[in-house]
Amino acid sequence: ERKAALAASSGPGRTSDGHLVPLLANVGGPADVPAALEAGAEGVGLFRTEFLFLDDSKRAPSEEAQFEAYRKVLEAFPEGRVVVRVLDAGADKPLEFLTPADEPNPALGVRGLRTLLEHPEVLQTQLRALAKAADGLPVHLEVMAPMVADRADAKAFAQACREAGLQAKFGAMVEIPSAALRARAILEEVEFLSLGTNDLAQYTFAADRQVGALARLQDPWQPALLDLIAAAAGAAKAAGKSCGVCGEAAADPLLACVLTGLGVTSLSMGSASIPYVRASLATFTLAQCQRAAEAARAADSAEEARIAAQQVLSGE
Ligand code: PEP
Ligand code: MG
Repeated sequence: ERKAALAASSGPGRTSDGHLVPLLANVGGPADVPAALEAGAEGVGLFRTEFLFLDDSKRAPSEEAQFEAYRKVLEAFPEGRVVVRVLDAGADKPLEFLTPADEPNPALGVRGLRTLLEHPEVLQTQLRALAKAADGLPVHLEVMAPMVADRADAKAFAQACREAGLQAKFGAMVEIPSAALRARAILEEVEFLSLGTNDLAQYTFAADRQVGALARLQDPWQPALLDLIAAAAGAAKAAGKSCGVCGEAAADPLLACVLTGLGVTSLSMGSASIPYVRASLATFTLAQCQRAAEAARAADSAEEARIAAQQVLSGE
């Protein structure tokens, strides 16, 4: 039965009553593109550009080398959306020439956008390479910053994008609780939000994502995490802007329905998960997803939230 559902799984992501939820792929570079196309991804929701920076620990890749890699990914989705995240260095992704070596708490240190604002030349080179790569292509390029904490961060990033002459939408990742709580102010500066639920869970529960013993607190079904997602999605809806999810949470077929019910407008995940999420979404109406989301938020633990959502969706 599952096989049949997957075989029938094609076309755009949508609920059974036709509410569209674009299903996008997380990619690390051109090598991940074939799998995304095979899974029927409607675009890229998270292009992690860090991989380009791993070849040489001493310096950033040249503008030309970056251009080549970005162009290959953008060309693969002629009419689609491609959301590129600018370099997210530091913490679990340290880079020798950028990341301070002596931080007591790297996850709470100079990482993500903070690094780029301290090294504006690295950000400008990346944004120029992106602008050139998108030039003349019909692709919808969107560029987002990791680790945006507040409106000032969002403003600085939007400013840098304009300086580079980028013809694209500028967005902010929501992966720090302050950004979810004040999403309305951040949306005054940028055109879309994307929830990075891996880091958002880490910072909400003060639970290092690299410490396996804390897995319970990293569970994306945690109702506190769902509350923050609802806050960000609600602010985006009120502003008439989009709010996707690009963390691991989007790859869980049941949670994908709950996220849809919370008001999330697109889901981005590893390509292998796309057919499962597409099949799951197609099973339920938007109203059912919304009831499942309410039930999950009313729970007191991740486990209870999962069971509550499952009960609503199985009609028990
Ligand atoms: C996240 O934090 O959820 C995210 C998508 O980014 P990364 O996993 O690359 O930190
Ligand atoms: Mg992150």
